[in-house]
Amino acid sequence: MSKVYFIPINSYNNTKEINSASKKLLEKIQNEEKVLDFKKNTPLKVHFGEDKNNTFIESKNFVEIINYLKQKKSKTFYIETNVLYKGKRTTKKDHLNLAKAHAFTQIPIIIADGESGEDYKEIDISKYNTNHFKKCKIGKKIAEQSQIIVLAHFKGHILAGFGGAIKQLSMGCASRGGKLAMHSQSKPILNPLKCKKCYACAKNCPTNACNINAIIPHINYSKCIGCAKCIAICPHNAMQINWANTTPKKFREKLAEYALAAQKNKKMIYINFLLNITKDCDCHAEKQKPILKDIGLLASTDPVAIDKASFDLTTKNNKGKKLFRGDDIFNYAEKIGLGKTKYELIEI
Ligand code: SF4
Ligand code: SF4
Repeated sequence: MSKVYFIPINSYNNTKEINSASKKLLEKIQNEEKVLDFKKNTPLKVHFGEDKNNTFIESKNFVEIINYLKQKKSKTFYIETNVLYKGKRTTKKDHLNLAKAHAFTQIPIIIADGESGEDYKEIDISKYNTNHFKKCKIGKKIAEQSQIIVLAHFKGHILAGFGGAIKQLSMGCASRGGKLAMHSQSKPILNPLKCKKCYACAKNCPTNACNINAIIPHINYSKCIGCAKCIAICPHNAMQINWANTTPKKFREKLAEYALAAQKNKKMIYINFLLNITKDCDCHAEKQKPILKDIGLLASTDPVAIDKASFDLTTKNNKGKKLFRGDDIFNYAEKIGLGKTKYELIEI
């Protein structure tokens, strides 16, 4: 059974209370379970919020966590990866600009998978009993860390059902190629009807797999390694995600497997923010309204236990009716060794 620490908070607007709670949780978990080595880097895995999204967890809520780490003299910085789709977080340059616009300015930022998502390390999970992957593409700078604090907004997600610690670990830590592998078939499709033969993909493809000079431009799949850089680069949306064979259940299993890879050999602390709980995720470029009252903050060293406790709290606060889909992920995540579904909820 894993421990999950909980502090109730009834308003996202109470920044002082959120800061005080997050520091208290961090201190508690560190005192009880001696997780972090302060001589090492302690990056904060966050989500900067898509452009126009108004319900992501804002940086003003992380001030006391940052102060705590600074007092302990641990080097800290925000760490994040580029997204798969076209938008303001597709390239490192745009991503940093958006993070700045959203006031993530207190500490440096590292975009873990390079300029366009091409920097990754393959993490071997072949010894686990997984259904989909033996190796996972994790953003290089994340793979290189020995400990991370994962700060996750708990909310809904169109395909996963919900997003919390497991989703922050998996989709949040994967390079663009890893994200592509979770969402779809692992290699993109070149739509020749949209291709304007600008050669941007061919110039940037690391394996020379874009055959644009052919009568019908195409990807040479014997060369393509599925890094997905061309999806980000193509100015005409001719490089497309192959959604065939993706089901929500398969998608969730893939998330659990990537989460397993992202935290492998690392010391991790997870803090879930059950505040501003929305139907859709923070990647939605639109204003959203919360669909449930604010609940509070949870912390744990177990990503399965903290997400299960978060899921159960949203159900409890929704008059006992499940607010989100996707809870089949818990048994699968436990089966492959990501964490435990049984937890002790300790209110502090
Ligand atoms: S064609 Fe394949 S290897 Fe080349 S950039 Fe696209 S995904 Fe990467
Ligand atoms: S970047 Fe897009 S439009 Fe340009 S050649 Fe490649 S597929 Fe065609």
